Amino acid sequence: TRIGIDAGGTLTKIAYWNDEKKLKLKKFLSSDFHAVRDWIDSNHSLASICLTGGRAEQLKDCLFSKNEIPYIVEFDATMNGVMYQLKQEKVSCSSAVIANIGTGTSIHIMNGQVHSRIGGTGIGGGTLTGLGMALTGITNYLDIIETSKQGNRTFIDVLVSDIYEKNKLPIKGSLTASNFGGIAIKTQNEKSEPDLLAGVQGLIGEVVSSLCIQAADAHGFEDIIFIGSTLENNELLQQVIESYTLLKQKNPIFLKKHGYSGAIGALLEN
Ligand code: ATP
Ligand code: MG
Repeated sequence: TRIGIDAGGTLTKIAYWNDEKKLKLKKFLSSDFHAVRDWIDSNHSLASICLTGGRAEQLKDCLFSKNEIPYIVEFDATMNGVMYQLKQEKVSCSSAVIANIGTGTSIHIMNGQVHSRIGGTGIGGGTLTGLGMALTGITNYLDIIETSKQGNRTFIDVLVSDIYEKNKLPIKGSLTASNFGGIAIKTQNEKSEPDLLAGVQGLIGEVVSSLCIQAADAHGFEDIIFIGSTLENNELLQQVIESYTLLKQKNPIFLKKHGYSGAIGALLEN
């Protein structure tokens, strides 16, 4: 069988076909390439691999292959994987902005078969784990996600309506005027760990979606596709992104296999 491997900054994602020709997915921490090697050794031959991702070279060094392992550029692999999933999920969408919320966030446009990277931001999944850890000491990803769900951003952020109060609002009052600005401006002292983590999710979701909305406006696109493992099991981030995107009259699309587009694309290239 063949396998596609996307070695990213944080996670290494693997996609392969099983004996019944069913798509299978697996992930490892990119800090543990030995576990990836052990898994490949016991399940697959090196000959059937196609690699992608920013850490592909490091992984290749760890695999000790005598032969050259095929490699595909990350952005091409990601686009292939996105197209495949759109077809599988029967989503019709030929032009869109695509945000890959990985360790960092990369923003692309897709127009038919043509795609290009138009920008990105350092606010991404690494911000969720890193800033989350700095603020609360919680290190486990799922703990961060679960804790953030119990939180409330009322005392963390400043809303437009907090500033304008009784004045006539120039924009929607429910929009965030300042992520985390409430910590300095609001006097309430109830800033719990859940609230701080909800604030981080809000920061990431709003930064990423507003960049995508502006890109969609600039290119005249309606659809914005959000991918990356940061969305995995992370309903709160999806909610933030969805509501902001809808508010700005764009159509948010989430794919089921959030973080696996690159690995699936590498598998298909193989
Ligand atoms: P990049 O594409 O920027 O090189 P990457 O490919 O490793 O990075 P993704 O796998 O798409 O990025 O997403 C990584 C993010 O996913 C992490 O920063 C974290 O927020 C989140 N995440 C999801 N599951 C886990 C997990 N089990 N352990 C750590 N982080 C996780
Ligand atoms: Mg990645």
